[in-house]
Amino acid sequence: MSEEPSKERIEIEVPSKALYVQHAHCPKGCDLMEPGVKIGGYPSVRVRLRHRGKEGFIYLDPRYGSFENISEIDVPDGEVVEFFCPHCGASLKDEHARCKVCSAPMFALSLPRGGIIEGCLRKGCFEHVLRIVSGEELLSRLFESDTLSSYL
Ligand SMILES: [Zn+2]
Ligand SMILES: [Zn+2]
Repeated sequence: MSEEPSKERIEIEVPSKALYVQHAHCPKGCDLMEPGVKIGGYPSVRVRLRHRGKEGFIYLDPRYGSFENISEIDVPDGEVVEFFCPHCGASLKDEHARCKVCSAPMFALSLPRGGIIEGCLRKGCFEHVLRIVSGEELLSRLFESDTLSSYL
């Protein structure tokens, strides 16, 4: 193999519910964790949801691959919503990503150490993608779950 750049973008698959998000931020750095609302025993990720002119909070299940979200707005399955940071109002939509399952836009949450976690914005579509940008040295150890959970 030829010399690779020192950073590369990878996608990894992890077992459902084995990992949970502990430090999610908006693109501008606001903390999105909500210890006051727990899902499955873990602090949820609070974002502002907009759907057909209505707005409210949605508390996202922090467990990777789990979707027991709590929404203030009742959204029918199949509808596409928008997510915003509840603190600074930044859009959480990832302009470069489309859901591989249903082709709807994706939202992205920023994680410590350069990772992002993406999810589909279509209600009822259960697609999550975890992307971690990392140096080569870390890549070699990434598949040990102890190391992986430190990215979340
Ligand atoms: Zn923000
Ligand atoms: Zn989808």
